[in-house]
Amino acid sequence: MSGVQADTWAVLGGGILGQALALRLQEAGKRVTLIEAAPELGGLAMAQQVGGITYDKFYHVILPFDKRTLALLDDIGLGDDVEWRSTRTGFFSDGRLMPLNGAFDYLRLRSIGLVTKLRVAYLLMAAGRIRDGAPLEQISVQEWLTRWCGQAGFDRLWRPLLRAKLGDNASRASAAFIWSSIRRLYLARQGVQKVEQLGFVKNGGYARILNALRDTLIARGIEVQTNTPVSRVFGSAAGVCVETPSGRQVFQNVVSTLPTKANLAVCEGLDAEEKNRLDGVVYQGIICASVVLNRPLAGYYLTYLTDEALPFTGIVEMSALTGTDAFDGKTLVYLPRYVTQDDPYWALSDEGIALQFVDALRKVHPDVASTDVLDIKVSRVREVMAVPTIGYRENAPQSVTSVPGLYFVNSAQIIDGTLNVDATLGVLDEAMEKLELGRTTTEARPAA
Ligand SMILES: Cc1cc2nc3c(=O)[nH]c(=O)nc-3n(C[C@H](O)[C@H](O)[C@H](O)COP(=O)(O)OP(=O)(O)OC[C@H]3O[C@@H](n4cnc5c(N)ncnc54)[C@H](O)[C@@H]3O)c2cc1C
Repeated sequence: MSGVQADTWAVLGGGILGQALALRLQEAGKRVTLIEAAPELGGLAMAQQVGGITYDKFYHVILPFDKRTLALLDDIGLGDDVEWRSTRTGFFSDGRLMPLNGAFDYLRLRSIGLVTKLRVAYLLMAAGRIRDGAPLEQISVQEWLTRWCGQAGFDRLWRPLLRAKLGDNASRASAAFIWSSIRRLYLARQGVQKVEQLGFVKNGGYARILNALRDTLIARGIEVQTNTPVSRVFGSAAGVCVETPSGRQVFQNVVSTLPTKANLAVCEGLDAEEKNRLDGVVYQGIICASVVLNRPLAGYYLTYLTDEALPFTGIVEMSALTGTDAFDGKTLVYLPRYVTQDDPYWALSDEGIALQFVDALRKVHPDVASTDVLDIKVSRVREVMAVPTIGYRENAPQSVTSVPGLYFVNSAQIIDGTLNVDATLGVLDEAMEKLELGRTTTEARPAA
């Protein structure tokens, strides 16, 4: 073999997954180069500036059972900087904003009848105890929820909530999606107090995590290339070639953490089945407004919305978790709209979206004046989460490709659609067993 140094690994994509993967490969004794298109590492976990606040572009919390995330924080020296707090939840339905923090609040909800409430409560209890969601991957989420909660329960409660996360893709998703969300909620309430405990890294949130990660990567000798979009990846006799505006680099192995559609666009030499798998992934996108206010809302970290006329699909009052002192006394709110690829909101300007969203926020919180809004910023990402369609496990992209030395490891390999850092790191754990860490040539693999 010539032209490539032994045991060189490139990791494409410098989101949390790419960075964690680079650290794992370095621990395994590999020479690692991390290649990221953006000027900064971080991807979806990146921070932004809005209204004089620097904080996560998209809201992030840590749950007590996010063991892989907590282990990563320990590794980069932030293990003791996670603060845990109980939060309150709101529920907006039929023009009324109500608390939803336990059985009493739940029973007081007017928009759902008593029988439906009991059926929903039973489902939440039973689903939280299901450990293996694999059989649910074969049933549509609509069919499963209707079976448990009846048509009224589905129409009044679940349909708006599902639409909130999946838009029109809700009709294509499997029951594993809602099961995994319920289970996450169930586990979050498993503590002694039976209240949801959410965590965040003090003094900066994910911006601090990303700074510490970057320092760790550099300290451990990982080469970090930012501002370096990958345009072509292909196998050659010398190794796996990666083309960027800076030229061609050759590595013995390349692991791409890019979204699936980017892999399809840049990776050459894949076989037809691999291309079909990449092409078949249905991505959910997000359009999210970060709003800075000079006054708090209702103090609910999360408000569920069942009014489908609202242009966003939930309200996340981050400062209800962190305290407004984290933001110089200001309130930071996120208004996410999860969207399909053909959602009409993609065509709207940021200004148009900002106006609509603030207007709608005042429908939920009529006491908010437009002068209370200090700043608003709209962010959009098309490929955020792979929709867990029915039978997704059998069709999801695989880690090992037919191009020797080229691997795919990304969040599209989360089978049940719960996009979070811990699940993403779970994909990494599984992939580490498949990467041929002992492989030292670029020859084709023997047939299985
Ligand atoms: C609204 C929202 C809320 C969330 N809330 C939470 C939460 O509360 N808790 C939680 O744990 N998780 C949460 N998450 C999920 C979390 O952000 C993701 O799990 C995690 O950031 C995914 O990291 P990743 O590295 O897999 O992907 P990404 O962050 O998407 O990284 C991919 C990287 O590849 C780069 N790239 C793309 N194309 C190229 C190219 N051609 N060349 C080079 N680089 C390229 C991108 O710039 C990007 O940096 C949330 C996500 C969103 C969107």
